[in-house]
Amino acid sequence: MTSGTEHTLELDAVILGAGVAGLYQLHQLRQQGLRVRAFDKAGDVGGTWWWNRYPGARFDSEAYIYQYLFDEDLYKDWSWSEKFPGQPEIERWMQYVTDRLDLRRDIQFSTAITSAHYDEDRGRWTIRTDRGDVVDAQFFVSCAGMLSAPMENLFEGQDSFRGEIHHTSRWPVGGVELAARRVGVVGIGATGIQVIQTIADEVAHLTVFARTPQYVLPMKSPAYGPEEQAAYKARFDELKATIPHTFSGFEYDFLHVWAECSPEQRRAVLEEIYEDGSLKLWLASFGEMFFLQNVSDEVSEFVREKMRARLKDQHLIDILVPTDYGFGTHRVPLERNYLEVYHQPNVELVGVRDNPIARIVPEGIELADGTVHELDVIVLATGFDAGTGSLTRIDVRGRDGRSLTDDWGRDIRTMMGLQVHGYPNMLTTAVPLAPSAALCNMTTCLQQQTEWISDVIRHVREQGGSTIEATKEGEDAWVAHHEETAGATLIANTTGWYLGSNVPGKPRRVLSYTGGVGTYRQKCDDVAQNGYPGFAIR
Ligand SMILES: Cc1cc2nc3c(=O)[nH]c(=O)nc-3n(C[C@H](O)[C@H](O)[C@H](O)COP(=O)(O)OP(=O)(O)OC[C@H]3O[C@@H](n4cnc5c(N)ncnc54)[C@H](O)[C@@H]3O)c2cc1C
Repeated sequence: MTSGTEHTLELDAVILGAGVAGLYQLHQLRQQGLRVRAFDKAGDVGGTWWWNRYPGARFDSEAYIYQYLFDEDLYKDWSWSEKFPGQPEIERWMQYVTDRLDLRRDIQFSTAITSAHYDEDRGRWTIRTDRGDVVDAQFFVSCAGMLSAPMENLFEGQDSFRGEIHHTSRWPVGGVELAARRVGVVGIGATGIQVIQTIADEVAHLTVFARTPQYVLPMKSPAYGPEEQAAYKARFDELKATIPHTFSGFEYDFLHVWAECSPEQRRAVLEEIYEDGSLKLWLASFGEMFFLQNVSDEVSEFVREKMRARLKDQHLIDILVPTDYGFGTHRVPLERNYLEVYHQPNVELVGVRDNPIARIVPEGIELADGTVHELDVIVLATGFDAGTGSLTRIDVRGRDGRSLTDDWGRDIRTMMGLQVHGYPNMLTTAVPLAPSAALCNMTTCLQQQTEWISDVIRHVREQGGSTIEATKEGEDAWVAHHEETAGATLIANTTGWYLGSNVPGKPRRVLSYTGGVGTYRQKCDDVAQNGYPGFAIR
């Protein structure tokens, strides 16, 4: 179809994003025989693992459980070199998947989708890109990622800086020269921690600007040779059967009941799990820590004790050890020798909770009290507008021209994280009110969501329908269920990106569904098996 000078491409579905979700979604829809194309503003596949090439970027999920489980050969023909590999290896794995499934021919890279408008009369979406593409598609599937809209223009004066400024998720492909330079890292979340522990030895001077302290757990990442690789591959059937049904989509689950253990037994459990060097202490020790203040207090104190024992001076303890929220109510980072880095003579820790960053000046970073820290490179490890940012930063319009940016600017609502009322035939992954907004091993959640989406698209077409839309009542009921579930957890009492409070003006809501990955999956399956109650198919 041609209108004026514009050439419009007609497709059955457009997929926004070519990360873990987008790649698998593309594969599935193509297998259904749909005409489909994925667009990504990144230069190649990988999503998170293409963008986040900062020094030290690596998994916090065990590599062998992060893999796709839908194809045994695809799983077994790839071998990891260690338990928690770094970004270069993960990016290679994503390329391996892409090549094996021959996905590249249907992906357009270095192309940002700038708008997606729904035409109610035709029941179709018009999608435009920054390269001038115009696509007319029945379905618009967002695989935009929950952590892909960086918080990067945060400080007055950023443009005036004489050195280089890089957000961790916009790290240049060729890398950044850090050796022998004065580097400042802003932020000590999961990413900041990985950067800090990795570059401390290399740079001349490292200044860390720390606001919110984190509970950290030491990571153990043993190397994998042929024997270890064979061992985890032999567990394929077991992993496939269990992982999708656990609380967090990891291979482990909560096994211990606080009330049934004596104080000594609790301590022994915590000590043993801590030694695993994984996220197990968070996601497979005592689930009561998310609900009961006394349990949260005790587990939090256990982790604090471990952290304090590694820090030599009270100044570091005061800034780095959390005291005003419970362990596990924020994303828990794994680290390697991170706390010890602060004992190095070239590393300076600057607490900015009471003396915040006022602005960036040509020489470096100026704090509220007027102190200027002179720097050559500023690394912004300042996180993301999680869950919603990638979609609200483009112009998405549903029925009657309603704007998703406006709708979510008032209140963040979805139907099971899979649709938004008012946006027929827009299907979503990794948006709020599903576990994939934050709380899970993401590949587990994204496989489930994309499979559900593929099934519903097939269903609509087989029924001879042309549209599916979450009903107002269905969405209301899901939001109420979400609120009740989230409200029972201690996460609801905190601040941070789990609640969107890192983004000025963002409506407050626990972003992730907290009922558990297995429970969520069951609810999604029930909806599909019962003819999609809560959704209208026309
Ligand atoms: C540093 C870091 C470490 C992480 N570690 C883990 C971990 O260990 N375990 C875990 O489970 N999860 C981890 N995550 C979460 C991670 O985001 C997910 O595991 C997963 O990669 C998300 O895949 P996705 O396909 O949903 O989204 P993404 O990988 O974010 O891909 C989304 C893609 O959409 C594209 N896009 C967005 N907007 C547009 C637009 N307008 N036009 C075109 N393209 C667009 C982006 O360029 C991006 O490539 C980590 C995240 C980060 C940032």
